[in-house]
Amino acid sequence: MNNPFIELGIRHEIVNAISDLGFENPTPIQEQSIPVLLSGSNDFVGLAQTGTGKTAAFGLPLLELLDFEENHPQALVLCPTRELCLQITNDLKNYAKNTRNVHVVAVYGGASISDQLHQIRRGVQIVVATPGRMLDIINRGAINFSGVKYVVLDEADEMLNMGFQEDIDNILSETPEDKKTWLFSATMPSEVRRIANKYMTDPYELTMGSKNTGNANIEHEYYVVRARDKYAAFKRIVDFNPEIFGIVFCRTKIETQEIAEALIKDGYNADSLHGDLSQQQRDKVMKRYRERSLQLLIATDVAARGIDVNDVTHVINYSLPDEIENYTHRSGRTARAGKTGVSISIINGKELGKIRQIEKVIGKRFAKIEIPTGFDVVEKQLFALIHKVHNVEVNEQQIEQYLPRIMDEFNDLSKEEIIKRFASLEFNSFLDYYKNAPDLNAPVDERPRAEGDRGDRFNRTGMRSDFTRLFINLGSVDGFTRGDLLGYICNNTKISGKTVGKIDVKGVYSFFEVSNDDVQKVQNGFKGTDFHGREVRIEISGESSNERRGGASNYKKREGGDRREGGFRNGSGHNGGNREGGSRERSGSHSGGFRDFSGKRREDRGERRRRF
Ligand code: AMP
Repeated sequence: MNNPFIELGIRHEIVNAISDLGFENPTPIQEQSIPVLLSGSNDFVGLAQTGTGKTAAFGLPLLELLDFEENHPQALVLCPTRELCLQITNDLKNYAKNTRNVHVVAVYGGASISDQLHQIRRGVQIVVATPGRMLDIINRGAINFSGVKYVVLDEADEMLNMGFQEDIDNILSETPEDKKTWLFSATMPSEVRRIANKYMTDPYELTMGSKNTGNANIEHEYYVVRARDKYAAFKRIVDFNPEIFGIVFCRTKIETQEIAEALIKDGYNADSLHGDLSQQQRDKVMKRYRERSLQLLIATDVAARGIDVNDVTHVINYSLPDEIENYTHRSGRTARAGKTGVSISIINGKELGKIRQIEKVIGKRFAKIEIPTGFDVVEKQLFALIHKVHNVEVNEQQIEQYLPRIMDEFNDLSKEEIIKRFASLEFNSFLDYYKNAPDLNAPVDERPRAEGDRGDRFNRTGMRSDFTRLFINLGSVDGFTRGDLLGYICNNTKISGKTVGKIDVKGVYSFFEVSNDDVQKVQNGFKGTDFHGREVRIEISGESSNERRGGASNYKKREGGDRREGGFRNGSGHNGGNREGGSRERSGSHSGGFRDFSGKRREDRGERRRRF
């Protein structure tokens, strides 16, 4: 069978190059736009989120359409940021690595203009540029755009947001009337529409998803907290996600800086990205983030524009953006290239209206999630540690010499005892750290909205009184997400997914709500079911979430409630870099990353010191 890119009209040498990048099948936007753009006869408007494969959607047709025997500018790609400019340039060079005489130059501010002028003088067919520097070069009379056939306006909405409208007007006036303009934008505010109307003739319009909507692979969640608990709640959420690789959005540079500093002090692997940093500093931060040496990037909207890092697991809106459209841009930093991701908003009770507005714009519901209890975090961290131990790579050669002595030490202990002790090594400090952790959920007077068949009779936990909360002994450590668990429940019980209420996936267990009429059906459905050799247990929870939180104190009681004031054991150093205020970069991957809970102030004291 032919490679699908060949069938779209891309030639072999380019298809070979993109195969090396792992592009086996075109993304939806590539599939739909490449045939249109290859005709070379249309203006084009593509509405698509970042991360959907836009660069190849316009880049591959450009490589097909330009004449690389001729060495003058034939295509101009304008984009909002230096990062994106470099990314696009790099991508185009990669697609063209088997094609002769292709010259692409990146033109952007904050770097030596003479180098860029030199490259232009040597001959270039594709110029990828940010508007300010491009205009500078045009004004110096250093480039001739009279042979330009195609102009691409990438992330047009971002460019307009950043105030580049006049620059774009001026740059486009330097290009021939009969060129084709291809515009890509994640959203379609009226300013973008105006550009489309002004510069394009009867453009072919392609909308991936509905206008202004977000990526379907993103789950949107919100947590309601009191303003004074926001930072503490944020840390709790991060601690509950030991594998997080996230971007945290703040509204101002100062807030960005403060949060990053506080996080570093508290032992997290974080740094800030904002407009007051020099380009060099920004590059350094981005390099560390790309290399996964940083786990959390704290950024302003402007600084984060154009960030193209794959595998971002979470976007956290520490503060909601002023403009709803910025929410789409922020959340679009996760779930790139077909992956899934979570966009979290930490809000106070007064901001619920904003969440509802965003829901309308993106056409998706947010899930309201409870801030995890200290107990939840302890459990999550413990099992992340257990997984890490299980998966650790053993250096047989190095460890071998010590093994006899180690074995000797453990001679008097059973396997069970040894496991218990290894687990307790960290578990005790997690527990210590989180004992007395307060409930950070703010009381909200919000009932789940009546929708479709959902009635409006709710009990005090916000659950419908005709629903029952069930416990199941499977959770995230078994690989379940909310969606997976829903599928698993429906498959086993044959009840409809629509009749399942809130699903709360914890570490080794989960809760889910079903209609009272379905309880028996669910219990019967799971009777005798086994999950990887473990019997699946369903129990009626009967507890409210507040009662569940009591679970933490039960736990504490079992541990004897030892309150060593500030007496945190300087643990075994499972993540020593963190203890040094994040200054020592953790090498390799972020995976299996644990906070160092030892040697730090207790959570509640630390939290109270910082109010943002
Ligand atoms: P973009 O929207 O162009 O920034 O692309 C987002 C990410 O998806 C980048 O990391 C690309 O390398 C990747 N990508 C683009 N097209 C494909 C494809 N057809 N198959 C696999 N990955 C792709």
